[in-house]
Amino acid sequence: MSQIDRNSGILHAQETFTADQRRQYQEKFLSEVVAHAYSAGTPLRASMESRGLAPDSIRTIEDLKKLPITKKKDLSEAQKAQPPFGGFLTVPISDLARIHQSPGPIYDPVGKVNDYWRWKTALYSVGFRSGDIVINTFAYHLTPAGHMFEEGMTELGAVVIPTGVGNTEAQADILKSLGVTGYIGTPSFLMAILKKAEDMGVISNVNLQVAFLAAEMLPESMRKRFFDDYGIIGRQAYGTADVGCVSYECPQLSGMHIHHDVIVEIVDPETGAVLPEGSVGEVVVTCNNRIYPLVRFGTGDLSCVTTDECACGRKAPRLTRILGRADQVTKVKGMFVHPSQVQRVIDTFPEIVRGRLLVERLQDQDLMTLEVEMKEELAPSLKTSIENSIKETLKLKGAVRKLPTDTLKEGFRIIEDIRKWD
Ligand SMILES: [Zn+2]
Repeated sequence: MSQIDRNSGILHAQETFTADQRRQYQEKFLSEVVAHAYSAGTPLRASMESRGLAPDSIRTIEDLKKLPITKKKDLSEAQKAQPPFGGFLTVPISDLARIHQSPGPIYDPVGKVNDYWRWKTALYSVGFRSGDIVINTFAYHLTPAGHMFEEGMTELGAVVIPTGVGNTEAQADILKSLGVTGYIGTPSFLMAILKKAEDMGVISNVNLQVAFLAAEMLPESMRKRFFDDYGIIGRQAYGTADVGCVSYECPQLSGMHIHHDVIVEIVDPETGAVLPEGSVGEVVVTCNNRIYPLVRFGTGDLSCVTTDECACGRKAPRLTRILGRADQVTKVKGMFVHPSQVQRVIDTFPEIVRGRLLVERLQDQDLMTLEVEMKEELAPSLKTSIENSIKETLKLKGAVRKLPTDTLKEGFRIIEDIRKWD
């Protein structure tokens, strides 16, 4: 297995569609999905009727603007009001393969179709191939993660070991005993397994070559360590429990190509207005799924789309990366502060390992401090440069403070707002 080419090849012709071909393909399924949801009487029908829209009023991607955005919160409320699926399901429940539950709580139906969540294309693009032996460390209970990746792997022709998360010693043992070549899970758990394999003295018998990393931030320094220290290609993808795969990296690591069966709009999280290419906003998706058609589903995640050419040959636009949650947008001294802006400041300085913006209120004044973990001491000149960058990017004054290493734990909020208003 050591000679496998994990960098070239493209799985689907649709991935190389020109912009025109892609639009034609997507507008065809858009019309069909909308017409289907309308005739099945999902909540989309009521919202279209209240706006005086017939199914043929939604023919182009621009027409989507006429429809409301359904947020996670709306879905959760609809499911409570009309259990179990809020009226969005267009087939009898008995026709489903499985039902999952994701935070909200939201029930997620899985139709009886191959690769329902569309992960196969993504798994190929990140480097998996037929014949790979893969540990899937995502959970298989209630949450859809474990099953959705397993289905994609099965479609691709890989062998899956459903290890779930935890028990690094058993995982390291499986890597060694079964000649495992691939990993699915979070970056931090992969690192934990590799460290355990080192402690157990079995790392030289481990043949891991490729890792599909999701569900948490992947620092570039960590990706580099996977490759330099362990020879593992680590690539990311993005999706949600509600809609499955949205986008995925390619060997160029220049963002995540949007899946051909997903229409992505980037909208202003406050107003819902569609933003021009290159703007940071909330990712809103419409998928080619007639069983559970979610039209204009607001993911709550912030990103940015680029249509710049990619050297891999795929022509699909890319999400640059996920920049935080839309609901983390906050107002300081009357100005909106986006997590992406904070991240932009942090990314400007290679000396910063990670950081967050602390927003406090002292004597009726908003106070911002960028708290950073550093590779080195925070020299006065560097401190001034960072403060200037904050002022330039956020249009607000902010201080900088160095934190001891490892103060910020996994999953920390990039904007920590501790203001009290009572
Ligand atoms: Zn590419």
